[in-house]
Amino acid sequence: MPRPLTARIDHAALHHNLALARSLAPASRVMAVIKADAYGHGLLRAARAFRSADGFAVLTLEDAVALRDAGHRQPILLLQGFYEACELPEIAAHGLMVVIHEATQLDMLLASRPSRPIDVHLKMNSGMNRLGLPPEHYRVAAERLQAWGGLGQLTLMTHFATADEPAGIAWQMARFDAAATGIDAPRSLANSAALVRHAGARTDWVRPGIMLYGVAPSVETAPGDLDLRPAMTLSSRIISVQQLAGGECLGYGGAFVADQPTRVGVVACGYGDGYPRHAGTGTPVLVDGVRTRTLGRLSMDSLYVDITALPQAGVGTPVTLWGDGLPAQEVASSAGTIAYQLLCGITRRVPVVEVGVEVSPPAAALATA
Ligand SMILES: *Cc1c(COP(=O)(O)O)cnc(C)c1O
Repeated sequence: MPRPLTARIDHAALHHNLALARSLAPASRVMAVIKADAYGHGLLRAARAFRSADGFAVLTLEDAVALRDAGHRQPILLLQGFYEACELPEIAAHGLMVVIHEATQLDMLLASRPSRPIDVHLKMNSGMNRLGLPPEHYRVAAERLQAWGGLGQLTLMTHFATADEPAGIAWQMARFDAAATGIDAPRSLANSAALVRHAGARTDWVRPGIMLYGVAPSVETAPGDLDLRPAMTLSSRIISVQQLAGGECLGYGGAFVADQPTRVGVVACGYGDGYPRHAGTGTPVLVDGVRTRTLGRLSMDSLYVDITALPQAGVGTPVTLWGDGLPAQEVASSAGTIAYQLLCGITRRVPVVEVGVEVSPPAAALATA
């Protein structure tokens, strides 16, 4: 038997979550964000499940080219644009869209003579202070782009810092609107949290990422409230059972000391697989579908679960680390991190099992359609 740890990727869930995003922003075009290997779900796998998306957003030129090579014809946005002018010929050749977020990047673009017009998302720093042109330089940048011979479609873009928090987006929207007023171009503003929580952010384009993978984009929205379905379920089995007497310790550093007789299941999953090392005693886990807790300090290849109250559990009993029945954000918050990091941190040694892959209709059905 192979090592029992798998990441099950549910295509039907991906598809469902995209449809949900669409239904929340029915007048917007949806750009599915599939950076970081589609948040750990697999770039081409996710793109196939999201093939009805109006566009894709990725980080690297390699990912964008891989999508083109796989036959995806939608707009594909490079979220940090390009880093050197030498990337521009390939960007133009593959018909990719670039973010322009910085003055030197804009100068490089304007100095180039692309073989085909290049679509540009001109990004404003409306308050997050990560990427984007300052509001006071924005209009001039848009005018320079519009006067340049190489421009395809111009889109106005910004990104929100507190869309998932009480501060909301109004403070950034005010800056964005003030600086973008009168520039005649479509707008792309919303990440998942803004899409879900702020109707005003549902403009020409929306850019959901995390929600497409079935994770609620803010702590106030439970996954159930939104009917999101987790697309990744990380599961394994118990491979050994240890019986601790009161006072005995467990694992490296003896980080857990039993205060009473404790039955421990050793699970084939560790930080070498991407399970967060900072998940201490008490992190939720499902054993045979029943919620219990992890114990002690996990290691590279295994972790410990408390099965004292689960006498039926033993070697071979299935364990869910996150996914169906156990939202990744719960595990993440026990480990002092966020679900994004868990999903995109799954390592290469974890085998992927795909379910819910839509099969093409048989030829006969197509012929009569
Ligand atoms: C990652 C990213 C998104 C998607 O954010 P989520 O919180 O995952 O929805 C949208 N826009 C930009 C610019 C991003 O970098």
